[in-house]
Amino acid sequence: MAEGGGLENRIPPRVGRGFESLPLRHASGELRVRRWTVRIALALLGGLGSYVGLSALLFVAAMHRASLSQEAHLHPALPALRPDDRLLIIAPHPDDEALGCGGLIATAAAQGIPVRVVYLTSGDGFTVAAALTARSTPDPAECLQLGEQRAQEARRGLETLGLSAPDAVFLGYPDRGLLPMATRPNRVYRSAATGAQRVPYPDAQSPNAPYLAPALVADLRRAIAEFQPTRVFTTHPLDDHEDHAAAAMLTREAIAQAVQSGELRAPALYYYLVHYGDWPLPQGMHPDRPLAPPLGLAHERWQVFWLGDAARARKRAAIHAHESQYAIMARFLSSFVRRSELFAPAPPIHPNYTLPADDNPTIHLQPHADLASVQTQTGREGVRVSIETRQPLRAPYQLELTLLSVDAAGNWSDTRWRYPNRRLSARKEGNLLHLWLPHRPLADAERAYLMARTTVYGAELDRSGWLPIPLPAAGGESGVPADASAPQSAPSPAR
Ligand SMILES: [Zn+2]
Repeated sequence: MAEGGGLENRIPPRVGRGFESLPLRHASGELRVRRWTVRIALALLGGLGSYVGLSALLFVAAMHRASLSQEAHLHPALPALRPDDRLLIIAPHPDDEALGCGGLIATAAAQGIPVRVVYLTSGDGFTVAAALTARSTPDPAECLQLGEQRAQEARRGLETLGLSAPDAVFLGYPDRGLLPMATRPNRVYRSAATGAQRVPYPDAQSPNAPYLAPALVADLRRAIAEFQPTRVFTTHPLDDHEDHAAAAMLTREAIAQAVQSGELRAPALYYYLVHYGDWPLPQGMHPDRPLAPPLGLAHERWQVFWLGDAARARKRAAIHAHESQYAIMARFLSSFVRRSELFAPAPPIHPNYTLPADDNPTIHLQPHADLASVQTQTGREGVRVSIETRQPLRAPYQLELTLLSVDAAGNWSDTRWRYPNRRLSARKEGNLLHLWLPHRPLADAERAYLMARTTVYGAELDRSGWLPIPLPAAGGESGVPADASAPQSAPSPAR
């Protein structure tokens, strides 16, 4: 945030001023030409800027209009809570549980239905909040202090919702670190905020556990198996926040491991959403409006949970309990105090994922990097991935693919590819790009997840979230059929 007073001092002198102050006799023909070149260039840039700005503005206005016209009651209701239900809420950070599920938690607690909340991180990497709390650039100790404070706020919030202290489980993994941890699961992550490489909180479930995705999943699996939930709620894989996107996959994997080992009967898994562009619209406190999904995710199979007056009031108070967050983004947090909450049942693993396209101004202006769908076909030697973009993918845009696999013993393996890449087998077909990715560990894999990202000069433009992909049946085919996998008229894959 910029302080208003200092802004003028930072504005550089206007470009034309230097020419104007020159004595007339120095204004030679060459100088006049240069002056006009600069003016024309500035006019062109200005014109381009206003065109881009205006079209982005019109696009956002159209999106808002379309979003606001959506009706929440068109979605089916979340299946009613039952007396034998046990709800487990996975929150990447303290406050996500209140924003996404506060009404659900309050309603269940009032009916005597057991609810437990597992916090993957304590929100210790949110440096803006830390800076506000500390009134300077926060050092690692202050970030850890913020983590403790946010855990405390979360406990108070849960009390407001009708839960008690033992209903909150803190795992203490790094805020802003879940996606890097998931992307490189065998490398210990170091938090830029706290400097920690292990869980630093003595009251976490596993103090000193290393910052590794397999350790987090083992921790989460233990929390899930101990509670034996009938329904689990975690953040949506297409949530804009990296930690939230990673939490979807980490939760899925923890449940899969617990079910596979016989520790758990498969619970129903639901996604809730917190960060998605400027959603929820309209922003701010509108307690009498229902929560409508964002336009880009309107086609999800959302289910509505309607809040009674008491549950809504408790949710509002629980959000207020997160004081460190409320101090800096009250308007955003208040946007979740609505008549309803939305949950999307996690779909089963499938080979063809449709992704939201053309639903934010950045991607609207860069259709070559707008991921529209991802299809996979897996064999024991690797996977053929077909990526659809709104316009054919081309330079300077790049595609980055990460494939994770987990074997029966819980060992993780990861590989990354970048396209364009001469060593990668590829074939283009209109807006489709087919890629053949060799990945031997798939032969022993129990589960695999693929993430596609488009970037421009290193900056991310679009992301698919972790897509669980189907594996070839055990003892089945020995590889992807040659005609379907290795694209014709393409260089042979580097082995
Ligand atoms: Zn969060």
